[in-house]
Order: sequence, then structure tokens, then C-alpha cells
Amino acid sequence: MAIENKAKNTNLIKEEAKRLGFMSCGMSKAEFLEEEAPRLEEWLNKNRNGQMYYMENHFDKRLDPTKLVEGSKSVISLLLNYYPNEFQNPESYKISKYAYGKDYHFVIKDKLKSLLQFIQNEIGEVEGRAFVDSAPVLDKAWAAKSGLGWIGKNSNLLSKKAGSFFFIAELIVDLELEYDTPVTDHCGTCTACIDACPTNAIVEPYKVDGSKCISYFTIELKDELPNSFKNTFDDWMFGCDVCQDVCPWNRFSKSHSEPLFDPHPDLLKFDKKDWQEITKETFNEIFRKSAVKRTKFEGLKRNINFLDS
Ligand code: SF4
Ligand code: SF4
Repeated sequence: MAIENKAKNTNLIKEEAKRLGFMSCGMSKAEFLEEEAPRLEEWLNKNRNGQMYYMENHFDKRLDPTKLVEGSKSVISLLLNYYPNEFQNPESYKISKYAYGKDYHFVIKDKLKSLLQFIQNEIGEVEGRAFVDSAPVLDKAWAAKSGLGWIGKNSNLLSKKAGSFFFIAELIVDLELEYDTPVTDHCGTCTACIDACPTNAIVEPYKVDGSKCISYFTIELKDELPNSFKNTFDDWMFGCDVCQDVCPWNRFSKSHSEPLFDPHPDLLKFDKKDWQEITKETFNEIFRKSAVKRTKFEGLKRNINFLDS
């Protein structure tokens, strides 16, 4: 297969991505993200990263993939659906839907490795690096540039076809491909996410103050939770889905078909009392391979106590 055959190579990769279970795949030229640079700078200057200090690192590399992966030519963006088949007990403290099953980092990394292997087998000597929700890559900006959706007023990537309950990942490769074009914004006059955010973290359309977001508080913040936010967490003990749940584009979300994303049965069954009484042993059992492990047992307990007091 000729490595120069851009259109054919692009189609081959998109077909294989579909076969591996990704819901969409789009391509962008690897270059400096000019439009994102001032936005990221402003966000950091206003300390909207809270204690997520890692966001301040690698400023140049984040905006320019050719600085991150030497010789890179293209960014392949991929979406993987995580919308669940079954949901938590409505009488329970809530966990963000993306964290129901096995930690997505592992699931997606495996799929990206298979995709790179496929490219190397079918197209030729291609070097690439896989990224899943990793600090140096602005994954939403790349996915938008690749035509997979627009960045909505809640700052999530939204697609008319698929809503927003999906993971975003990238493969940065030194292979030229045919590039996609961005889609238009379909938020229109809607303000449902801004109106529903329990902590008013969407400070203006398209601008989320990360340091006020329940996801940040329940997952990233290492200190005590601030008393000024007491009774505002809407029973979320890990992450928050409110601004996605209310989004009209998620009304038709379809369930994923990835068995590894299915939750432990207790995660669905537990009510508030069960969570209040959870032991370290049960925590380890329910969240053995889950992203919830990031908070550790003590972190989840801290969140539950905050909701309970
Ligand atoms: S995740 Fe929750 S707290 Fe954060 S912006 Fe969305 S609705 Fe607000
Ligand atoms: S809730 Fe409305 S404004 Fe917010 S992201 Fe969805 S469509 Fe856009």
C-alpha cells in the first residue's frame, strides 16, 4: 500500500476505528492550535484550573502536537461511547456515568494500540503515540477541529448524532491524511446547562470555572471540601453529569456496547445508607478496576461525609 495514498489510508483508518468500536473518527493536520492559545492562557490566568496545577505545564506542547511528538503530521481523534445500559438506584449518591465500568484509560489505550498496529501493518512504517485524557493534549479542541462535534456552552464536545456521553482519545502520527472540517455550533439560544449547574460553575457561555465544578471538588481537590459549597453538590459523590443530563442533544443517547464498561452490580443497587457504611474492602471490590479508584477510599468517604453532614 502506498503511504502517499492519503484518501485511501484515511478511509482504511476510519473503517478500522469503527470495527474497534469507536463511534467516530476524524482527522486534523498536526499544527499549532492558534485559536485555543489565548483561551487556555486566560483560563489559566484566572486560576480556573484550581489545584489542577498539571494544566499549567507543557503550555507549548499542549498547543502544538509537533512539539509533543517529533515529526508528527496528523492528529486522529476518536470517540468512544460510554452511555450506560443500566443506571444507579435513584435513592443513591451519584457517580458520573463515565466511571461506572473499567477505567477507560486502559480500555481505550488497548484499542488505540490495536489501531496503530493496524496502520503499521496495512500502510507502512508509521510512528505514533496514543493519548487518552492526558494532560498535554487539548482533546476537545482536536475533536472539534476534526469535525466530530462542537464545543458547547457547558464546554463538552457535542455531536448532533451522539450527544456528549463519550470519551475522546487521540493518536498522533507521522502520516499525512485527508483532513476533516469543523461542524457548526448548535447550542443556539439554549441555556439549559448554565441554568442547571448546581454550583454555577458555567460562569458564562462556553466558560467553565473548573475550580467551582463538582467534578473538580469530588475528584481533583485534595483538601477538605469548602463549607461554602455545602448542600450544593446535588448528591454527586464522584464527578457530576448535570450539564450533560440536561442537554437536549443527549436526549437520544444510545447505550454503549462495551462489556468492560458495565458496572459492578452493587454500584447499581446501593442506596445512600449502603454508601455511608461502605468499608475499604467493599470499595476495593466494587471499584477494583474503575476510575473511581482515583479518589481512593478516603476521598470517596470524604465526599460522602460532606453530602451526609
Ligand atoms: S459538571 Fe456539574 S458542576 Fe461541573 S459545570 Fe457541569 S453541571 Fe456544573
Ligand atoms: S444544554 Fe444547551 S447550551 Fe448547554 S451545551 Fe447543551 S445545547 Fe448547548
